[in-house]
Amino acid sequence: KTPLVGVPGTKFERTFIAIKPDGVNRGLVGEIICRFERKGFKLVGIKILHPTKAQAEEHYADLSTKPFFAGLCNYFSSGAVVAMVWEGKGVVKTGRTLIGATNPAESTPGTIRGDLCIEVGRNIIHGSDSTDSAKAEITLWFKDSEVAEYQGNQTWVYEK
Ligand code: GDP
Ligand code: MG
Repeated sequence: KTPLVGVPGTKFERTFIAIKPDGVNRGLVGEIICRFERKGFKLVGIKILHPTKAQAEEHYADLSTKPFFAGLCNYFSSGAVVAMVWEGKGVVKTGRTLIGATNPAESTPGTIRGDLCIEVGRNIIHGSDSTDSAKAEITLWFKDSEVAEYQGNQTWVYEK
């Protein structure tokens, strides 16, 4: 059985992806899931929840000294969020590539942010930035029982 947090460096690597309240309210959940799914990554955890301010502050604790921290936590806790765990080889780094640069004005067209949003303070999606932060974020948002094991398409996505 794959550990909750995955196995970095293997096809069982896992990352935490969250569609922020603007993405959910703008009806972009399907569009975003589609992009990860068609790449070949495997969705192993998904739920919708309305984060508390305290949960937002814990999730973004690393940014607590930034001038935009309060606004960021208000934004993240302002509505429903779709929290997900995605699995696959290189999913942390490649997930960030699919998402695009933090500031949508600098995100390449073809990326989620490059195609679907305009401002850094409303950039619709979160993705873990390292395997260590993926581990911490998956543990923060998911219980072991909220992640599912299933066969999936691995034998067609991977050479071995
Ligand atoms: P990410 O990993 O690409 O999401 O970027 P960071 O971890 O650096 O920042 C977390 C989130 O804070 C970003 O996704 C933005 O929503 C927000 N953020 C980052 N920089 C700024 C900024 O300069 N201004 C504002 N308003 N928000 C920012
Ligand atoms: Mg970040």
